[in-house]
Amino acid sequence: MMNQPVSKIHGVGPRMVEQLENMGIETVQQLIEHLPFRYEDHAVRRVTEAEHEERITVRGTVHSEPLLRFYGKNKSRLTVRVLVDGLLLQAVFFNQPYLKRQISLGEVITLSGKFDRHRLMLSGGTLKTTENNVNEGLEPVYSIRGNLKITALRKIIQQAFTQFEGQMEEILPSQLLTSYRLMGRAETIHQLHFPTSIEKLKQAKRRMIYEEFLLFQLKMQLFRKKEREAVQGQKKFFSQNVIEEFKTKLPFPLTNAQLRVIDEILKDLQSEYRMNRLLQGDVGSGKTVVAACALFAVIQAGLQGALMVPTEILAEQHKESLVDLLEPFGIKVQLLTGSTKVKERRAILEELREGKIDIILGTHALIQEGVDFKNLGLVITDEQHRFGVEQRRILRKKGIRPDVLFMTATPIPRTLAISAFGDMDVSVIDEMPKGRLPVDTRWVKHDMLPRIIQFMDKQLNVGKQAYVICPLIEESEKLDVQNAIDVHLQLSQALPQYKIGLMHGRLSSDEKESVMNEFARNKVSVLVSTTVVEVGVNVPNATLMVIYDAERFGLAQLHQLRGRVGRGKEQSYCILLADPKSDMGKERMQIMVDTNNGFELSERDLELRGPGDFFGSKQSGLPKFKVADIVEDFKVLEVARQDAVKLVQSKAFWDGEDYALLRDYLKKQTSFTEEKLD
Ligand code: ADP
Ligand code: MG
Repeated sequence: MMNQPVSKIHGVGPRMVEQLENMGIETVQQLIEHLPFRYEDHAVRRVTEAEHEERITVRGTVHSEPLLRFYGKNKSRLTVRVLVDGLLLQAVFFNQPYLKRQISLGEVITLSGKFDRHRLMLSGGTLKTTENNVNEGLEPVYSIRGNLKITALRKIIQQAFTQFEGQMEEILPSQLLTSYRLMGRAETIHQLHFPTSIEKLKQAKRRMIYEEFLLFQLKMQLFRKKEREAVQGQKKFFSQNVIEEFKTKLPFPLTNAQLRVIDEILKDLQSEYRMNRLLQGDVGSGKTVVAACALFAVIQAGLQGALMVPTEILAEQHKESLVDLLEPFGIKVQLLTGSTKVKERRAILEELREGKIDIILGTHALIQEGVDFKNLGLVITDEQHRFGVEQRRILRKKGIRPDVLFMTATPIPRTLAISAFGDMDVSVIDEMPKGRLPVDTRWVKHDMLPRIIQFMDKQLNVGKQAYVICPLIEESEKLDVQNAIDVHLQLSQALPQYKIGLMHGRLSSDEKESVMNEFARNKVSVLVSTTVVEVGVNVPNATLMVIYDAERFGLAQLHQLRGRVGRGKEQSYCILLADPKSDMGKERMQIMVDTNNGFELSERDLELRGPGDFFGSKQSGLPKFKVADIVEDFKVLEVARQDAVKLVQSKAFWDGEDYALLRDYLKKQTSFTEEKLD
């Protein structure tokens, strides 16, 4: 019944249907489950207890005639004096001229706004009338799109409840409801939309957070189970001796952490289960060689391997490292990217089908467009932040079920990673290669530029190289490129004796490749670039990283960028050019100066939770939830994971009456059957 179209709700006409559709809401169920993402607390407070700049709601007596002024185009400002808790406040309302008629001298009104303690002002606020007044002052805030108004949305949700509340079903089994003392589903959703008290809202949130996590973890566990059952996996046979020999032929001894994760991966390869593993390791921790070792093992077992990377630059780089590491063993490595010429491409595909190529590497198009293997045994994706289920589905559709390894430098604390990627095993490289010096990080103002250029000159003079990163201007790629071009010109003039390269998103892939190659071969001394070099690039001879407008970047990105240097034995430097006036910026710069450790950074970042940082960004690959917050509610996530594991293993979950509605719900969410899983 709940899957009826929203048009069944009284008062929802064709226009509203369309607006809702734009937001992905078509059924009554979807409407009701469109939950607020935060609440404004409008409980009436005593102004004397309010902090400066706090948003508050107060009640007082109107002490002057309201004064309305128009300015600019359609702009207005309404001011009125209100006596609140013994203080005479100046209330200011912007662009709500109609309020003038609703405010009269001597009347008691309830109003909210931002409190200026010094000037005794309450500004940018709203007037609370009986019409828009909400219970105990908790006002839900929804994400909306287009012309839809929150008030209209709230009204139809209310109406939906009136008509359909009786039909809302519980989906959690009573056993879980009792043992965790969870609020019922209908009441929970009602409270989330129309909270009657802070306490009730808290209970509703608690229930919904658990529900969201449990459903998510069940989906993961089911997926994992299906995969394991479906694949009486391919055990890969190779001799441990050959692997040991491979290790001794490496140009450096592996770190203990590398040895450990290699063991974990090789065990997976040898087992009958299909590997689905996430390898985390801070920038520069040496993930590539781990990948090479896994590929080597798979090839010893007579199978092929694929390595997918996000950019062509990175593909080029990996080609070189893999060729160095693997060709001495007679392994054939081939590059395939969007810019491979048609004729060459045809030849490559042919050889791949015949099994003449052992390892293919390129962007993720590798596993998509009519690329067929003779016997693909392992797929590795590097620095691919949107990893997961989708890629596996593509592979499954092609009828191949290779082992899969995802590599990422995003330092998600291990415990969180295990719960958040419930369907994957997690390996962590938590140690840097020996002899690595931490990058010396400095934070300076822009007017230090001449001295930085001097310093750069010194580094270049002894044969070292430098990166210069120009700020990313989100709104305009064009400005971005212009920025890079300007900086390039400036440096070319300041350091005429060196070759300065330029890299940005507008270059063709041929151009990018040739600049990158020249930089890698030290034909270019300085690489001026937009953030395209962010991921993965490895030029150990580069010892200086200069980042313009560093305060514009999040910590995650700054750390990635800094990770481009400090890859050799020499001392490296990272110079952050930042505007000292930006508060958030200041803190981030200080953190960068304080630590070189990605995991520590990610924890400090958690405290700040600035936008665009580790956990806010898409980069983290972490899933999003409506009510739950994967970081803040991390403990519940872990509980839900354990519960999901138990449930999926229990018989009751599969045929028990008490679990019927949960099964139904999961089916409707298309996460129950393998084909529909996404
Ligand atoms: P990332 O984990 O960021 O992908 P890379 O695999 O690119 O790191 O490795 C960074 C650099 O460290 C490379 O130059 C690589 O050759 C080197 N390296 C990797 N492992 C070791 C090791 N155990 N000892 C010394 N150098 C190493
Ligand atoms: Mg890498």
